[in-house]
Amino acid sequence: MRYLLETNGLTKQYGRHKAVNAVNIHIRQGDIYGLIGRNGAGKTTFLRMISGLAVPTDGEFSLFGKKGKETRRYLSRVGALIERPGIYPNMSAAENLKIKCLAMGIRKKGEIEELLDIVGLSGTGRKKAKHFSMGMKQRLGIALALVGDPDLVILDEPINGLDPQGIAEVRETIAQLNRERNITFIISSHILEELSKIATRYGIIHDGVLLQELTREELLSRCSERIELKTDNTQKACTVLDGIGITDYKVVDADTIHIFEHLNDSGEITMALARNQVKTMGITVKNEALEDYYLNLTGGALDV
Ligand code: ATP
Repeated sequence: MRYLLETNGLTKQYGRHKAVNAVNIHIRQGDIYGLIGRNGAGKTTFLRMISGLAVPTDGEFSLFGKKGKETRRYLSRVGALIERPGIYPNMSAAENLKIKCLAMGIRKKGEIEELLDIVGLSGTGRKKAKHFSMGMKQRLGIALALVGDPDLVILDEPINGLDPQGIAEVRETIAQLNRERNITFIISSHILEELSKIATRYGIIHDGVLLQELTREELLSRCSERIELKTDNTQKACTVLDGIGITDYKVVDADTIHIFEHLNDSGEITMALARNQVKTMGITVKNEALEDYYLNLTGGALDV
């Protein structure tokens, strides 16, 4: 099995509007996959389909290597926290978990205590969930998604509305579960900066369309500081760069080179090019922040 989850042309149409439009996503075992997109981009609709909560209008997905009707049997290996966690406010964390265990027919001894321990809610005793902080509620939601020992956990905007400490706690819980239990995660968010602290791979979704899939390294390299050189002859320009000892660069298209070192030496680079009859059409130092990268890609303001 190459991918733990793979979608092929997955589409959900409401009336004439395609909330999810022919999405092909690839998630490997052990990934913490960040699904990033603005409000209304189609994240929840996508997650509902792969969790078996909504039926696709078109396309298909494979789960643990199985397709179509066969995926149903494997949905029990998927835990999901989509939209609001189904928490009973007048019950304690343990009671909430007990109900979910009963509903799923799970009677493993010590299961509830273990789940509370994993998400750091062991000390909450009889305290009712309605008195929990947002972060605690989110962590209880994650514990509920973990009932039944899933291999894949889907979390829809798990850090939405949390304060920085709550965000850090949820992030640490996810990282630990991934590390120690090898649980694969799909996490949606509209805040790339936050996802970037934890996700290992990314899918960027906009207006229902998956614009890009990229690894953490690819994302960071696209956002790193660089000189963007535009020239009429990239081949000759590369020879000039080599000649002045610059080796960390990449030709990105027919007239653009990204240079990742000697960032303060753009004047010398231009002069060396001129000496060798290579015309510089433009040279700028760029440092694209993660959020800018995302905005450029999706073309516009971010809804928060
Ligand atoms: P948010 O973070 O705001 O939930 P999202 O990325 O999760 O955004 P979705 O909730 O999947 O986006 O919605 C995608 C689009 O599909 C939106 O335009 C939404 O209005 C529409 N949509 C979602 N569910 C339905 C539905 N049941 N009926 C009609 N339209 C819907």
